[in-house]
Amino acid sequence: MTEVLWANLKAHELRALAGRDALVIQPVASLEQHGPHLPVQVDVALVSEVALRAAREIAERGAVVVAPTLWAGLAEHHMSLGGTITLDLATYHAVLRCLCRSFQRQGFGRICLLNGHGGNVSALANISADLTVELGVPVTTATYWTLPETAKAFAGILERQSNVRHACEAETSMMLTLRPELVDRESAAALEGPLEGLAGHDGIYRWRSMAWWTETGVMGVPKAASAGKGEQLLAAAASALARALVNPALWAEDRMA
Ligand SMILES: [Zn+2]
Repeated sequence: MTEVLWANLKAHELRALAGRDALVIQPVASLEQHGPHLPVQVDVALVSEVALRAAREIAERGAVVVAPTLWAGLAEHHMSLGGTITLDLATYHAVLRCLCRSFQRQGFGRICLLNGHGGNVSALANISADLTVELGVPVTTATYWTLPETAKAFAGILERQSNVRHACEAETSMMLTLRPELVDRESAAALEGPLEGLAGHDGIYRWRSMAWWTETGVMGVPKAASAGKGEQLLAAAASALARALVNPALWAEDRMA
């Protein structure tokens, strides 16, 4: 199998990949509380796995490399529940800028910031726009569960939720597939959190801590989780992402000033 992980490759192999116009997937995550039943590394583990599986599919058709996952993100809303490490927005922007600039300086011209954490979504939309203009290379971004094809597949696999919430049926299922020894099944079996939240009041956005919405830090239904569903979710997310990332229209040149 072709090696796709940046960290496992040698410098001359990475120079050769840049020469072949390889796509760089930069997984971005967060380290934060995931209820009483899951470890804080959930977002890191899941987005890393989706990126790896997607890259292996893409590698059959073209050059691709997966950078080491950025484990810290924007998680202020989880801080009061413990176990959480957060960056502030300015630092997050600066870190992503340095990562993308490193890729660009080495000749990589196609970048995707693949996100696995809800708290990063709005920042990534703006940061990816800034970096695309500043670096002159497309810095694209996607949150793995919101691709249309993925969202449709997830709605069909999950029984109590329509998509990923937090420490929920989906995330617990995928962790049962990947790292079952880190899941407290007994505690998961009793857990059910609210399905919605973080939406504001009557259309007016107001920042809220996670604890305001859920005492346990869980949103969604962990007790409906299973390893079988987790494997289906991971497979669906990786395939949809691989298909979306090889679309030539995504990478077609823009008319930038
Ligand atoms: Zn998260």
